[in-house]
Amino acid sequence: MKTMLSALLLAGALVPAAAAADPLADQVKADLPSLMAIYRDLHANPELSMQERRSAGILAAEARRLGFEVTAGVGKTGVVAVMKNGPGAVLLLRADMDALPVVEQTGLPFASTKKGTSLAGVETGIMHACGHDTHMTTWIAVARRMAAMKGQWHGTLVMIGQPGEETGQGAKAMLDDGLYTRFPRPTHEIAFHDSASLPAGIVGWTPGYALANVDSVDLRVRGLGGHGAYPQATRDPIVLASRIVVALQTLVSRENDPQQPGVVTVGSFHAGAKHNIIPDEAKLLLTVRSYTDQTRKLLLDGIARIARGEAIAAGVPEDRMPEVGLNVENVFTPATFNTEALTDSTVALFTRRFGEARVRKVAASMAGEDFSRYWLADKGTQSLIFWVGGVPKEKWEAAGGDTSKLPSLHSPYWAPDAEAVIGTATEAMVTAAMGVLGKK
Ligand SMILES: [Zn+2]
Ligand SMILES: [Zn+2]
Repeated sequence: MKTMLSALLLAGALVPAAAAADPLADQVKADLPSLMAIYRDLHANPELSMQERRSAGILAAEARRLGFEVTAGVGKTGVVAVMKNGPGAVLLLRADMDALPVVEQTGLPFASTKKGTSLAGVETGIMHACGHDTHMTTWIAVARRMAAMKGQWHGTLVMIGQPGEETGQGAKAMLDDGLYTRFPRPTHEIAFHDSASLPAGIVGWTPGYALANVDSVDLRVRGLGGHGAYPQATRDPIVLASRIVVALQTLVSRENDPQQPGVVTVGSFHAGAKHNIIPDEAKLLLTVRSYTDQTRKLLLDGIARIARGEAIAAGVPEDRMPEVGLNVENVFTPATFNTEALTDSTVALFTRRFGEARVRKVAASMAGEDFSRYWLADKGTQSLIFWVGGVPKEKWEAAGGDTSKLPSLHSPYWAPDAEAVIGTATEAMVTAAMGVLGKK
C-alpha cells in the first residue's frame, strides 16, 4: 500500500492523470504563440556552421533574462547557460544552432532568403533544413519552464547552444574550450532531434547505438597523364579510380561481419577536362559509416589497402601512389550511444506522459551526430538523444507512412509541423530533465 501510494505520488508529480490538470502541458500550450514567433524568426534568419552569432545572441539573452549565468563565445559561437539550484545531479541539455547551405524551397511565408559563404568558400543559400531552429526554440521553452519550476528540482542545469553540428566541429570546439572544466561537469546529457521519419508529435527512441561513426574520406588517385590517342604512354587515373570504386564495394559485402552495420559510399568522382586528354589524377570523395570502432578501422584500413593495391596492379610508380586522407572540413563524428539506465528511465516517463501510442522504439540511424562527444568525453556519465516526429499529419497520411515519398532532413522541402515538434519536445525535455533533477 505504501509502495503503491508513493508510486502514485511520484507519477502524480511528473504525469498528472488525464482527467486532472496537466500544468506542464498547459504552460507549454500557453507559451506556444510566443515560441512560434521566435521559431519563425530563427527560421527566416539561419546561419551557417560556426557563424551562429545572431542565433546564439537570442538564446543567451533569453537565458540571462531567466536568471541563468550565461557565457557566450564558448567554442567560437557556443552559449553555456548555467542554473545552480542546490546539490544534486548536473544535467547538460543541448540544442544545436547551425543551418545548412541549402536553397529553401518550402514556400513557407517565413522561408529563408539568406545567403552566405560555406566553409568550402562557396556562395550559397542558407536554410534550417535539419530543423535546428525547432531545437533552439525548444531550448528557450525548456529554459523558461525549468526556471519557473525551480522549486520542484535541485541540482545544476547546464544548457548549451552548440555551434557547427553539421560540420562535426561544434561539440569538439566547446569541449576543447573548457566545457567540462570551466563549467559544472555534467553527470547526465540529453538532447533531441526533430525527425522526418516520424509523424508530428511522436517520440522515437533507440537503445544503445543510435547514430553512426561518420568519416569523410578524400581519395586522390594519381596516374600519369597524356594524349588520349596514346594511352600506352600514360597510366590512366580514370580507369584506375573506376577499378577502386568497384573494389571498394567488396569491403562491406565480403570483408565486414554482416551483423555489424557498415556503409562505404563514393559520393563524388571528378577527373579530367577534355575528351582527348588523359588527366594526371582523379578525385573521389567518400562517406564511411559504422557503429563500432572495429568496423570503422576495418573500413578505413580497407580503403587505403584497396587504393594502393589497385594502383600497384595498374603499374603506377611508387611515388604516385594514391593519397588517402580524412576530409578536414567534415570532421569525423563518432557514433552516438544511448546509455541504458537513463534511456530506460526516461522512456518510462515518456510513456506515462504521452501514452504508448506516441512513444516508439525506432531503428538506429546511419546518420551522424556530434552529440556523441559529450558522453565520449566522460563515459561515466549517462546520455540520451531521442527523436521528435515532425512530419505534418496530413502529409504523413497522404504518403501512407512511406517516408521515401516524403522530404528527408536536409531536403530544401523539409517543413516540419513546428508547433507539434516544439510543443512535444518541450514537454519531453522537461519531463526528462525532471526525471534526473526532480525532487523525489
Ligand atoms: Zn543535419
Ligand atoms: Zn541536425
